[in-house]
Amino acid sequence: IMKTELKTYNPYNGNLLETYRRDSEATLKDKLNVADQRFTSWKHVEIAERVALLQNLADELYKQKNSLSQLMTEEMGKPILESEAEIEKCIYLIDFYIKNSEQFLQDDLIDTDAHESFISYDPLGCILAIMPWNYPFWQVFRFAIPTLTAGNVALLKHASNVTGCALAIEKLFQDAGFPKGCFQTLIAHHEHIETLIDHDIVKAVSLTGSENAGRKIAERAGRNLKPSLLELGGNNACIILGDADLDEHIGTIVKARMQNSGQSCIAAKRFIVVESIYDAFIEKFTSKVQALKYGDPLDEDTTISCLARVDLAETLEEQVQQSIDLGAKVLIGHQRDGAYYPPTIITDVTPKMPVFTAETFGPVAAVIKVKTEDEAYNMASESKFGLGTMVFSSDYEAAAARISEIADGAFFINEMVKSDPRLPFGGTKISGFGRELSKEGMLAFVNIKTVYIN
Ligand code: NAP
Repeated sequence: IMKTELKTYNPYNGNLLETYRRDSEATLKDKLNVADQRFTSWKHVEIAERVALLQNLADELYKQKNSLSQLMTEEMGKPILESEAEIEKCIYLIDFYIKNSEQFLQDDLIDTDAHESFISYDPLGCILAIMPWNYPFWQVFRFAIPTLTAGNVALLKHASNVTGCALAIEKLFQDAGFPKGCFQTLIAHHEHIETLIDHDIVKAVSLTGSENAGRKIAERAGRNLKPSLLELGGNNACIILGDADLDEHIGTIVKARMQNSGQSCIAAKRFIVVESIYDAFIEKFTSKVQALKYGDPLDEDTTISCLARVDLAETLEEQVQQSIDLGAKVLIGHQRDGAYYPPTIITDVTPKMPVFTAETFGPVAAVIKVKTEDEAYNMASESKFGLGTMVFSSDYEAAAARISEIADGAFFINEMVKSDPRLPFGGTKISGFGRELSKEGMLAFVNIKTVYIN
C-alpha cells in the first residue's frame, strides 16, 4: 500500500516540519493536461517576453531570499550562509540567461546550395525533471531556466525531504507571472513518476540524482524512445602534485570537499597526493578541516552541519568502516551522532576500498599517497565515475598537457571543480550524459531543426 502522506523533518533536531499529501493519479493526469494545454500557447510567446518574466523571477528570489534560505536550511540542514549563497547563484544564473537567451535561440543561418537554409531551435513540449535535495534551488533552476525560456513547460518531481522547497519554487514562478502550467510541482511516488514517462505528453526527462535512480529513469525513457539527461554521482579526484602551492590553495581544497557538509556531486572525494608533499599536505589540510565549526545550520557561524537525513550519515559511516576493515586509517573524525557525521580524514586508502570505488556523500576525505605524477593521474582515472578531476600544481602548462588524458566532463587546474552558468556542466561514464548550463544546456531540450528553402 502506498502512503498518501509525506512528512518532512528537520535533520538537525529531528523535529517534524510539515505533513503533505501526495498527488493522486487523477491529480497527476490533470497536471499533465494543464502542462500540455499551456505548451500550445507558451511555445509561441516571443523570447523577449519570456526573458521579461525571468527578470520578475530574479526580483522575487531577491525579495524572498531570507525566507527561502531558511526553508532550505530547515529541510536539509545546509548552513544558512550557504543557503543564501545558493539563492544568489540562482539569481546570477537567471541574469546569464536574460543576457544570452535570444542569441542562443536565434536561427543559425547556414550557407548551402539552398536559396536559404538555417537551423531553428524549437521547444519539445513538457519536460519532466527529477531533482535531488542537496542544492534544492540550484538544481531545479539550472534545469528550469533554460528549458522554459526555450519554450518548453516543466513538471518537477523534487526529492521528498525538500517538498517545501519544491512548492516554494512553483509559487515563485507564479509570483513572477509565468502563465499557469509553465512550471508545476508534483508530489508523487516513484512508481507514479515512472509511469508518467510512458505518457505521450511527456517528451523528455532530466534527472539529477544517484546512479541507481539514473538506471531506472534512463531505462524507462529508453523503452519509450525519449531523450534523457542524467546528472549522477561523482567521485572526483583532487591531485596534489609536489609543486602545488599549498598556502595559496589549501582553503579551496578544503572547501572542495567540505562545502554543503560534503554533500556535493562534484566535491573532491579522492585526494591523490604525491609523496614529496604528502606530510605538508596532511598537516595543513587537517588543521584547516579541524577549524570548521559545527553547529545549528541556522546559526551564521556554522560552517559544517548535519547531513540531510540520518540514513545518509549511516551509509557514510558504513563505507568508512568497511574501508577501515580493509586497512584504511582514521586521522580525524568517524564518530557519528544521529544525522551528524563529523569531517573525517582517512589515509592509506587503496582502489579496493568503498571510499575509492563508491561515492561518499558527506564530509569524508580519502587520501591516497603516490610516488609519481604519472601514478597520480593514472589513479585519478581509475574510477567508474567521470564528473571531474582537479589538479593543484605550480606548473599549469604541464598540467594542461594532461587535458586529453582525463575522460571526465571537467578538468580544473588550481581550482575546485565548480559549476558556472557560462560553462557547460555534466559527466561521462556512470556520472551520466548530456550537459546543463551555457548554450549547451539551453539546447538540451530543443528540436534542432534543419530548414531548407529552395
Ligand atoms: P536519489 O535517491 O537518486 O534521489 C534523487 C531524486 O530522484 C529524488 O527526487 C528521488 O525521489 C528521485 N527518485 C529516485 N528514484 C526514483 C524512481 N525510481 N522514480 C522516480 N523518482 C526517483 O539521490 P539522492 O541520494 O537523494 O541524491 C544524491 C545523489 O545525487 C548523489 O549520487 C549525487 O552525486 C547526485 N547528484 C548529482 C549531481 C550532478 O549534477 N551530477 C548534482 C547533485 C547530486 P525521493 O526523494 O522521493 O526518493
